[in-house]
Amino acid sequence: MRLYFLHLGTMQPGDIPVPGYLIQTDDGTNILVDTGWPLSAVDDPQNPPGLSIEIRPEDTVLARLKEIGLQPSDIRYLVCTHLDDDHSGNHDLFPNAEVVIQRQHYELAKSGHPRFAANRASWDHPSLKYQLIDGDYELVPGVELLETSGHVPGHQSVLLRLPVSGNVLLAADAVMHSSMSDAETRIIFVTDMDDEPTIRLSTRKISDVAHREDALVVYGHDPQQWPTLRHSPSFYE
Ligand SMILES: [Zn+2]
Repeated sequence: MRLYFLHLGTMQPGDIPVPGYLIQTDDGTNILVDTGWPLSAVDDPQNPPGLSIEIRPEDTVLARLKEIGLQPSDIRYLVCTHLDDDHSGNHDLFPNAEVVIQRQHYELAKSGHPRFAANRASWDHPSLKYQLIDGDYELVPGVELLETSGHVPGHQSVLLRLPVSGNVLLAADAVMHSSMSDAETRIIFVTDMDDEPTIRLSTRKISDVAHREDALVVYGHDPQQWPTLRHSPSFYE
């Protein structure tokens, strides 16, 4: 099994990375996790004041996949951690994939919650096939989805077991930065939507699973950790 870290753009100020992830199993199943901002977000006057979004030509999800020899039709599963703008902007490029999402989150967004409206044309495209799941779920052997509500209801993280590099826990926005990894002391970020106990509970779940599985935690938007990781086309296996 291989894990590729895809750099899908940068938010400024702060060099905040926007990651996606590509997991390739030994039998050639390709699992994409998140799809980044839509290109239209660059210079979008609707962006929050002060936020600037950078997507270089090589940062698009299509360019990142092409660089490792893949096209959209090669993606079997698209795992959606959640439907915030920076994670769901290009879902509509993957009509052949099964989009795997927590039912609670999908139903919240589908009901018209304004937080998830910006990318609706992408994530609610009629060509997409959704698989709704409830709670922790083994997607394929070695790839487990973990329900981590907190940042948003029905957020999910990904635990994978790499034969050489060891276990990796893609926390996504359940824990965006290493400084938020302690459940007792973490700040509640302005974009964290659930109530505080739920946020602390999922933070604890991430640290408990990481401890139990001896897993490297990859934080959702950590400008200090991200450059220390090997990026695509290199990979971990
Ligand atoms: Zn995010």
